[in-house]
Amino acid sequence: MNKPAICGGKAVREEKLFYGHQYIDDADIQAVVDVLKSDYLTCGPKIGELEQKLCDLTGAKYAVVCSNGTAALHIAALAAGVGEGDEVITTPITFAASANCALYCGAKPVFADINPETYNIDPAKVAELTTEKTKAVVAVDFTGQSVELDRLMAHCKENNLVLIEDGAHVIGTSYDGRMNGSIADMTTFSFHPVKTITGGEGGAVLTNNEEYYKKLLLYRAHGITRDASLMEKEVHGPWYYEQIDLGFNYRMTDMQAALIISQMDKLPLFSERRKEIVKAYDEAFKELPQIFVQKEIPESDTTRHLYILRIVPEKLTIDRKQFFDALAAENICCNVHYIPTYYFPYYEKLGYGKGLCPEAERLYDEMLTLPLYYGMTDKDVADVIEAVTKIATYFAK
Ligand SMILES: *Cc1c(COP(=O)(O)O)cnc(C)c1O
Repeated sequence: MNKPAICGGKAVREEKLFYGHQYIDDADIQAVVDVLKSDYLTCGPKIGELEQKLCDLTGAKYAVVCSNGTAALHIAALAAGVGEGDEVITTPITFAASANCALYCGAKPVFADINPETYNIDPAKVAELTTEKTKAVVAVDFTGQSVELDRLMAHCKENNLVLIEDGAHVIGTSYDGRMNGSIADMTTFSFHPVKTITGGEGGAVLTNNEEYYKKLLLYRAHGITRDASLMEKEVHGPWYYEQIDLGFNYRMTDMQAALIISQMDKLPLFSERRKEIVKAYDEAFKELPQIFVQKEIPESDTTRHLYILRIVPEKLTIDRKQFFDALAAENICCNVHYIPTYYFPYYEKLGYGKGLCPEAERLYDEMLTLPLYYGMTDKDVADVIEAVTKIATYFAK
């Protein structure tokens, strides 16, 4: 096991290719410079402008932008009323923040297994794990493909649960003709540099629900309000504001907002290119019995954020780690998304452990993340396909 697996011969390419990279053009740079020359670096006009743009893109009634996707999940969980003694159901195949947001609120994350073909949370497993204590479901649109929103929404409605869509990967995707962001009770976005659209850091919560919206505004900014209708005491004067709850400083700067606004103008381009690359990969890998291609549900018109290469271990003499190393030898630098959250020592100490979600664990052993980003050239894409094909056939069983 795990001896270096290298096909030998000349590497497919000389220059290293990484799994993701932001794309910043002159318009993006100018947008940030313009803010730096303006009066407002934070809490300025770019915040409302971005919130409106996110509503226009998705069709959601309200958007609240904040410092990052993790902060977005935290305030969404708080707005949902998640607290001490509650349970929150989520997937283990995600970034740790999807479960951490429950812990921030004093609640217990409960991990539901994935569908082995789409890799998204299995609505049947969510139903099995729902108890009296369940308050919310955090469903992650893994790789950018929408979760099965119809089934999840029906279940949440029936059981009085709040559906939070962790849409860190999903911007640009639609479900059954509606953009993700306008469908679940709340949807969160992330604008980290590896995501489809970036602000350096940044996040947002989208909702159609006015009550959630008001709470999100409070939790983003210390629990402080300037809205007289929400105040409990007499207004002292024009300077007056009140802290009526315990919130945080999760504000976004205007530099970030301006960058995200400018990036959003390129979303159609980003989306189209990502779809092209995914199509090229899918078509090539469908020909290889050593590779399993992620299944798409027909409802999801997906802007893919990550491309997952899943090996079929029975058809190969090497394992995932060796496949990963062999790709590195061809100068294709991959990654793995994600280590099941409950494998982490912090979660183990809370009593979670191996065996909870067998499909997720099997996927973790069989997958790696291939390069996928807007700036990839056709040659880059061809190199990835050539390297994967070379390794899969060389080590075929
Ligand atoms: C990136 C990511 C987050 C966290 O977003 P940040 O902006 O980095 O805080 C949460 N969930 C998922 C699925 C992510 O990929």
